[in-house]
Amino acid sequence: MADYSKYIQKEPFTSISKLAVERKVQAFVIGGYVRDLILERPSKDVDFVVVDSGIDFAKELAPLLGKNIEAKYFQNFGTAMIRYKEWELEFVGARKESYRKETRKPIVENGTLGDDQRRRDFTINAMSVSLNQEDFGMLHDPFNGLNDLENKLIRTPLDPDITFSDDPLRMMRAIRFATQLDFKIEQNTFRAISRNKNRISIVSKERVIDELNKIILADKPSTGFKLLDESGLLKNIFPVFTELKGVEIINGKAHKDNFYHTLDVLDNLSKTSNNLWLRWAALLHDIAKPVTKRFDPKAGWTFHSHEFIGAKMVPGIFKKLKLPLNEKMHFVQKMVLLHLRPIVLAQEIVTDSAVRRLLFDAGDDIDELMQLCDADITSKNEAKVKRYMKNFQLVREKLKEVEEKDRIRNWNPPIDGELIMKTFGLKPCKTVGDIKTAIREAILDGKIHNTFEDAYPFMITTGLELGLQIQNQDDTPEAPQQETELEKS
Ligand code: ATP
Repeated sequence: MADYSKYIQKEPFTSISKLAVERKVQAFVIGGYVRDLILERPSKDVDFVVVDSGIDFAKELAPLLGKNIEAKYFQNFGTAMIRYKEWELEFVGARKESYRKETRKPIVENGTLGDDQRRRDFTINAMSVSLNQEDFGMLHDPFNGLNDLENKLIRTPLDPDITFSDDPLRMMRAIRFATQLDFKIEQNTFRAISRNKNRISIVSKERVIDELNKIILADKPSTGFKLLDESGLLKNIFPVFTELKGVEIINGKAHKDNFYHTLDVLDNLSKTSNNLWLRWAALLHDIAKPVTKRFDPKAGWTFHSHEFIGAKMVPGIFKKLKLPLNEKMHFVQKMVLLHLRPIVLAQEIVTDSAVRRLLFDAGDDIDELMQLCDADITSKNEAKVKRYMKNFQLVREKLKEVEEKDRIRNWNPPIDGELIMKTFGLKPCKTVGDIKTAIREAILDGKIHNTFEDAYPFMITTGLELGLQIQNQDDTPEAPQQETELEKS
C-alpha cells in the first residue's frame, strides 16, 4: 500500500489524527484532496470522513486548532466545516446512500468507510488516506483509483448506469473533470452518460450551470463541449448552442461550421483571459448565425445583423440557464454586439472618427473587446492570420492615439443638460436631448474637440438654428477651471 504519511505530518492533519485516536474513532482524508495530492495539484480544501458523527467530531476539534476557531455545521446534511488559517476543512460521518427515482437527494444511513467510498462519484475521487494510528498515511483505494489516475481515466466505482441515474449531476462532473484534468472518460462510463442523458432534468439548473462554468473556465473548454455534445447532454442543457452545428452547401459554396469555430474562439481566448464573462461572450458571439443565415447567389452565405440579433438573444439565454441578469449579462451583450466592429475597422482605412465611435461604444471594455477579436481569428491560413493580426495592431495603436488626444473612453459630455436649459430658458424637454446628441455627434465626427471651449459655442449655434433664444447673454459661463470629468482618463 502506498504511504502518504509525509504529506499529512503537519497541521491540521496531526490534530485531527490525535483527536481520532483519543475519541477512538476512525478518520480519513478523502476525495478530491487525495486525488490532487497524487496529481501534485496543491489545494487547501480538504474533505474528511469520520466513522462516527462528523459534526460532533468537528465541534470538538475546532477549539483544539485555535482559540477563536469554530465549526459551522449543517444538521440536515450531517456535515461540518472549519476554517483554519488558509484551510477549509469539511467533515462528514461515513454514510451509506440509497436513491429514489424522482430526486437526486439520497436517503442516508450511517455506514463504514467502504460504504462511504462506494457512494463517491469516480474511482479517482473515492481514494482515502488514513489518519489512524495503526495505518497512518496509508492509501485506501478499493476501486483502483490510482491506476485510473495514472491512465488518466474517469470511471465510476459502481455500475455507471446506477451511479448516473442516482445522481445525474455526476454526468456533468465526469465531463468537467475530464476537461479540467485532461482525462478520458472510460468507454463504459461514457456510454452510460449517453443512455442517462435525459435524467439531467431532475438536476437544478443552478447546479448544472455551476459545472458548465467550471468547464468554460478550464484551460481548453472545447474538450468539455465536445463531450457534452457527443453524449447528447448539450442538447438537453443548452439546446440553442447546438444549433450552431453543421455545414450547408449550396451551389458548391459552404459556410464554416459555427459550432467548431466558436469552440476554437473560446479555446483561443482561454489562452489569454480567465474572465468567465468574456469567455461567455466568446461562446455567444455568433449565436444568432443560425437564425440570420441566408444564401445569396451573388454574395454566397450571409449572416446579416447576427451581432445585433445575437445581443438581443443574450438575456433570454441567461434567464434560461439561470445565469445572472446583471451587469455581467450586459457586458456579454455589449461584447456580442460589438464583436465585428474592430474587424471592420481593420479592413478599412481607419479614420479617427470610426475609432472615436468604437471607443465611445466600448468604453472601459475596449481591451476585452480587442482580446475577443484576436481570438476570433481562427483561419488556418497563416498569411491571413498574420495580416489580420497586423491590422489589429494598427487599430490598437490608433485607439491609443485617439484616446490620448480625445479622451473618449468613459465619456462624459462637456456640456450638461442644466447648462442647455439655463442658456435657452428651457424646461426639461426633447430639445435638450437633441442638443446634447448634436454635441456628442460633432465630437465623435471630429468637427469639434472634446472640450468645453469648443462645445459651448457649438451649443449656442445649434440652439439658434433650432429657433431658440439665448436668455442670459451677459452671463456666459467660463470653462470649468478644474479638470473636467471628461478629461479624467
Ligand atoms: P473540486 O474541488 O475541483 O470541485 P472535488 O473532487 O474536491 O473537486 P467536491 O465537489 O468538493 O469536488 O467534492 C468532494 C468529494 O465529494 C469528491 O471528490 C467526491 O468524492 C465527492 N462527491 C462530490 N459530489 C459528488 C456527487 N455528486 N456524487 C458522488 N460523490 C460526490
